[in-house]
Amino acid sequence: MIAKCPCEHCGVNIEFATEEFLSGSSVTCPKCGQETSIFVSPQAQPTQKQPPAPRAVAVQKPPATFSKPDGDSGIAVCLRIIGLLSVVGGVFVGIIMLEDSRYADAGLGILASGVLSGCILLGFASLIEHTKASAERLNRIEILLQKAGEKN
Ligand SMILES: [Zn+2]
Repeated sequence: MIAKCPCEHCGVNIEFATEEFLSGSSVTCPKCGQETSIFVSPQAQPTQKQPPAPRAVAVQKPPATFSKPDGDSGIAVCLRIIGLLSVVGGVFVGIIMLEDSRYADAGLGILASGVLSGCILLGFASLIEHTKASAERLNRIEILLQKAGEKN
């Protein structure tokens, strides 16, 4: 290993191989030509200090139940989209038909059924999400209980 130490006389850094020169042996300074003893001082050593090796921290992966793609939320999103389309479509078509007196009754029916079915779908969607959320909450509580049990 290459070490550096300052010359005792002129302060220039003298590099030397620690394999060749024992600490405390004297060498001739290449700059001022005087004899100086070399030593391996902690500061003079080439800064090869590496950050402390990362300890093997037991990274706890989140339980698989949280990371796996959840089909339920996909269904909920689909229901929500269909519900919204149903409401918007029902209102849109219903209003157009209401403006024409010939189709006014049918338009009212379409408007009402569109809004109604849309609301039902939206209701289902939030129901699914609520169920999912409470299931996750239960899961979390179970994990906490397990951890508490492991500690004891
Ligand atoms: Zn010197």
